[in-house]
Amino acid sequence: MVEVRELHKEFGHVHVLKGVDLEVERGSVCVILGPSGSGKSTLLRCMNELEEITGGSVLVDGELMGFRETTDKGSTRLHRLHPRVIAKQRSRIGMVFQRFNLFPHMTALENVMEAPVQVRGDAKSKARARALELLERVGLSDRVDHYPAQLSGGQQQRVAIARALAMDPELMLFDEPTSALDPELVGEVLAVMQDLARSGMTMVVVSHEIGFAREVADKVVFMDDGVIVEEGPPSEVIDAPREARTKDFLSHVL
Ligand code: ATP
Ligand code: MG
Repeated sequence: MVEVRELHKEFGHVHVLKGVDLEVERGSVCVILGPSGSGKSTLLRCMNELEEITGGSVLVDGELMGFRETTDKGSTRLHRLHPRVIAKQRSRIGMVFQRFNLFPHMTALENVMEAPVQVRGDAKSKARARALELLERVGLSDRVDHYPAQLSGGQQQRVAIARALAMDPELMLFDEPTSALDPELVGEVLAVMQDLARSGMTMVVVSHEIGFAREVADKVVFMDDGVIVEEGPPSEVIDAPREARTKDFLSHVL
């Protein structure tokens, strides 16, 4: 489903991703762990084309993201795709951030309806029915007419998940979706994510919620300093890490 090959990302002279290879199978959940500054958010942003990559490639469902390949006399060249095509590719990927980023002047329902109506051109009645269904799925049927400021952090994050799902993504990326929440609100968001995983969604989740990773992840990836140091099932990476850097990191978060 997702294939990241020899991915590099530089910001000026700062080399942030130094050759990342990652495969995520359809319907599986990959949890990414790693210290602050190791490149986790940058990796997600490159997958979603929020950042232009400097080297390597990202394929989603076999399709090269952001570029078109041509071969001339045996040598391959990459050409940046038109922004409209990139926007279309991006619409297949849902993203949920640490900060909920809801539109403050719109109700929960309007937030979830916005992209299907404005970006995809769905009829309002259809978008509304689907949004109500999604808000029910995240347990917010009784909050559809509330504005973000009238919702708890956990409720806002659940609206953000429903909003991402409204575009019917094939892949969902989560960047520390619970780390801005009060501890008592973390569980309700993780429960929604677990439910989504059970429904077969392909997910890449940056999170230090080790319990969630143990229970839900098919694969755990430990990143440090722009590379993947170790990856495998949670029973290996979390419970029996091989690398010293992974052990050291886990000793601080467990
Ligand atoms: P955290 O756990 O704190 O969220 P992270 O693993 O998500 O960290 P990134 O946000 O990917 O780390 O950042 C990795 C490195 O890239 C950091 O050193 C950061 O300063 C640098 N970086 C990220 N975005 C930019 C940017 N737009 N311009 C310059 N440097 C950047
Ligand atoms: Mg980050």
